[in-house]
Amino acid sequence: MTAQTARSFLAETLAGNTAISLPFPLPGGASGQVMDEGIIRFDPQDGAGRELDLVVSCGVHGNETAPVELVERLIARIFSGELKLRNRVMFVFGNVEALRRGTRFVEEDMNRLFCRAPENDDNTERRRATMLEMHLLRFFGRAVADQKPRYHYDLHTAIHGSLIEKFAIYPLPRQGRQFSVQEMARLHHAGVEAILLQSTTSTTFSFFSNRYCDATSFTVELGSARPFGQNDSVDLGKMEAYLTQLIGEGLPQHPLHGESYAAQVGCPVFRVSREIIKHSREFRLLIDGKTDNFTPLPQGMLLAEDGEHQTVVTEASARIIFPNPDVVPGQRAGLIIVPA
Ligand SMILES: [Zn+2]
Repeated sequence: MTAQTARSFLAETLAGNTAISLPFPLPGGASGQVMDEGIIRFDPQDGAGRELDLVVSCGVHGNETAPVELVERLIARIFSGELKLRNRVMFVFGNVEALRRGTRFVEEDMNRLFCRAPENDDNTERRRATMLEMHLLRFFGRAVADQKPRYHYDLHTAIHGSLIEKFAIYPLPRQGRQFSVQEMARLHHAGVEAILLQSTTSTTFSFFSNRYCDATSFTVELGSARPFGQNDSVDLGKMEAYLTQLIGEGLPQHPLHGESYAAQVGCPVFRVSREIIKHSREFRLLIDGKTDNFTPLPQGMLLAEDGEHQTVVTEASARIIFPNPDVVPGQRAGLIIVPA
């Protein structure tokens, strides 16, 4: 594939026509290279003058298509020469087979499969997650050598309704690092209406890049999941403008006023108080599994039962997020969050 022959990187990917290529030139002196199925990177002509290296991933869940269409637009704008690169950028369509089928996953939720050691009998999704890790380590290796900041936004849409439509999950920082208020403010200006701070390690794609690539990374939820071509109601204009700025120019700086996270960031900031783990098949969630994300939970409410074990809401101002009683035992059936 070259800049001349590519009709659409998404169409080529879904048709099974993408595989590692030699670098090819783009208008204006930049270059592109397909790294693997559904993975393409672009390098500016003047690598030394860049400010940062960026990875934008989407389609880790195959039925979440609005961010995939956004990434496809960004790629097309780079191919045409309309979006000129200042910075290195790599785009990733995460779960290609699930994208073809229009399903969340084929065998397993891929966003639980990062940060693990590969095994011989790994299924397709496990192997793909390992390959994505290798591609990020390789791509960010140059930024580590050149001491450039690394950014990774893993874009999703939610299968749930949500009282807050666009929100971002900030992975727990590495030891000695802290959550950055400036990074949260940048996302708020990109249209994100709430930030959720993780309190534990995790097995998501954004946790991997934060932990192992020392990247500023977020899982970003951008509205509700719909099939390709039905995303008119999902407004990604601010996010597209922000990513365009990161690719073509650099990092915006926002003045931070006030004391609290919420005042400085400009939107509510929550932290995870507890994970609700489904331990056995007896597990029962006592609210509807379709309850909207961010629905308030009254203090003292019995939220879940699992045999002898009861989960009672003890926190003040608690809310529920990602309720899902249908996960397999051992997995998370929801999160209780509170203001940070
Ligand atoms: Zn998702």
